[in-house]
Amino acid sequence: MGLLGAHVSVQGGVDLAPERARDLECDSMQIFTRNQMQWKARKLDDDEIERFKENVRKHRILKVMVHDSYLINLAATDKNTLSMSKDAFLDEIIRARRLDIEFLVFHPGSHLGAGEEKGMKRISENVRNILEKAGEGRPRVLFESTAGQGSNLGYTFEQLAKMTKDVGMDDRTGICFDTCHSYAAGYDIATKDGYKKTFDLFDEIIGLDRLFGFHINDSKGGLGSRLDRHDNIGKGKLGKKAFSHLVNDKRFAEHPMVLETPGGDEAYAQDLRTLRGLMK
Ligand SMILES: [Zn+2]
Repeated sequence: MGLLGAHVSVQGGVDLAPERARDLECDSMQIFTRNQMQWKARKLDDDEIERFKENVRKHRILKVMVHDSYLINLAATDKNTLSMSKDAFLDEIIRARRLDIEFLVFHPGSHLGAGEEKGMKRISENVRNILEKAGEGRPRVLFESTAGQGSNLGYTFEQLAKMTKDVGMDDRTGICFDTCHSYAAGYDIATKDGYKKTFDLFDEIIGLDRLFGFHINDSKGGLGSRLDRHDNIGKGKLGKKAFSHLVNDKRFAEHPMVLETPGGDEAYAQDLRTLRGLMK
């Protein structure tokens, strides 16, 4: 259940990522299409794009997600940073579209002292404007659930519901649930009862039909710690059992479930083995 995958490297070109994912026996994957720590992006050429699309098919990667650059903050208070963020986010959409990628996952943003309401309003307006500018087509942009570290927004289901609702383009937006972040934000998915309650609540506040993918990470921080520190599966505060609920949940059988755990490919292989071992 669940299309297991990992965030894989694009070193040497994005076209090389599908094979890396398949070597790990992944059915889904996440990539960066630009250097996540730089504003300036390398141009993707047409050949590389064609090879990428071909390799996604050849290596049977069923769902692909892009993660946006870490520098982007659609709630930035500084005019210059906000303007660069908007340009970069539009560029992320265009790159994902050229690569025919279904989902673009992004951290909603940090209000940096402006206040949560103001920050959320800014994010919704900017996402809406950028999607209008980008025009029709892929990707669907997924608001990622956050740990609520610092002034990060999107750590409650209410906030995610409000922001996506205010964008007002349900066919273009959705949610990516990060297990580490949401646990750190106070959603106790580690127990069977807590898992059920969390997704009942998600359904009530946001709607399960608005959930399109997962980041599956264990958490170094405890429940409600608001610490964004990923850990390997079974090594953190969530523990192995927490993931058995998720990977066996029939509602999410076709959802990409992508690892963003530390340690590189070797650690991914181990984490994937652990997860497959939990499948019933
Ligand atoms: Zn994540």
